[in-house]
Amino acid sequence: MSTGPLNPSDADNQDETGRIFRDARNRLNKAIQYYPISPDVEEQLKYPKSSLAVSVVVRMDNGSRRAFKGFRVRYDDSRGPSKGGIRYHQNVSLDEVMALAFWMTFKCAVVGVPYGGAKGGICVDTKELSKKELERLSRTYIDMIADMIGPDIDIPAPDMYTNEMVMGWMADQYNRIKRGKYPGVITGKPLSLGGSLGRTDATGRGGVYVLRRLEEHLQLVPEKATVALQGFGNVGFYCAQLLHEAGYKIVAISNSEGAIYDPDGIDPGPLKAWEQQNKEILMGGPTNGKAQAISNEELLKLPVDVLVPAALENQITTRNAHEIQARIILELANGPVTTAADAILEERKILVIPDILANAGGVTVSYFEWVQNQTGFYWELEEVHDKLKKIMEKASINVWNTMTEHGCDMRTAAYIEALKKLTEAIEAHGTRYYFNVP
Ligand code: GLU
Repeated sequence: MSTGPLNPSDADNQDETGRIFRDARNRLNKAIQYYPISPDVEEQLKYPKSSLAVSVVVRMDNGSRRAFKGFRVRYDDSRGPSKGGIRYHQNVSLDEVMALAFWMTFKCAVVGVPYGGAKGGICVDTKELSKKELERLSRTYIDMIADMIGPDIDIPAPDMYTNEMVMGWMADQYNRIKRGKYPGVITGKPLSLGGSLGRTDATGRGGVYVLRRLEEHLQLVPEKATVALQGFGNVGFYCAQLLHEAGYKIVAISNSEGAIYDPDGIDPGPLKAWEQQNKEILMGGPTNGKAQAISNEELLKLPVDVLVPAALENQITTRNAHEIQARIILELANGPVTTAADAILEERKILVIPDILANAGGVTVSYFEWVQNQTGFYWELEEVHDKLKKIMEKASINVWNTMTEHGCDMRTAAYIEALKKLTEAIEAHGTRYYFNVP
């Protein structure tokens, strides 16, 4: 929520929502211009269904107590239980979590997984915590939100700076509270606790399936195409690895410590191993020798065929959108391009493959994990890959066709596709037309 005084001249401020959430909702407003929806559906999607803000008080290793701000937001559950990750980051706010929950709602709809959208987060820099402190933080957070989640209500998962170990602690804590075994309450768990094969690389892999399915439309020839990646975490690394295997030349990679550029191409596998052994410093790693250190900002402005923002939101804004030289942007992060920057990129004919489609591979394999948990029957890796590919490719073509049909940008087309499914579900629950009330 915005904490400063409201500016009366800014009508958008009147509902006291924050900037990131309002920016997210603008995308919906734009889609409605191309694909009008009933006022009832618009009302339903206006605000989060419920939001919880908690203080997560943790005993630190030195015996002291420390309080961390925690949130869980369920945006909408018209299409099924709400679903979305839990983020640990020092910039987490209710505003951001609301926006992320909003995006999850549309993401699940665009790929057709039977979920609504949610998100959670704790305002914390995990690098400052010991492993034991991190475990206590994760378990206490679940104590605080346990009444809001459940395998048929709201299902958390990993997001930035949370991983399968954290999901394992969280699932275990939920089971302790409920005195039973409920593996379907959280996805992204370790395999031994009911996780799915293929979940770890699912977001990066899903993005690659989208790009590869659209190669012909985008006039992309892997062997001739260059790629720059912002973010070398779970999402960025697997995307880099799979694109490299497909023949794309990865010329730049960054992480939170800096970026490197090598016009001869970078093999992501050896670089990842180097990064892990060298305190995340990329420079000096195994490259072809022409590598040079550049800034994250310079990486975004490189003249490449594909730019992959796979880190935080708000990376491409009015500040740098005029200088982006990539031909295509594949959004693996959530919200890396602002609405105002979208307009500039569109004018400059830079195609943005939107987050709610490009990074939906993660939640899709989370859905597979949940299905396996609910049925108690576990799949082979090949089955996970095949099913993920099918879903991502189908959604990509649907969005592409909708874009051509409406003559809009690809993001708006993705929102239209999602709105079709959300509208059907909301209307099936009954609207003013259904009840025949004028
Ligand atoms: N955090 C991921 C996302 O933003 C995955 C969510 C999930 O698996 O539920 O899509």
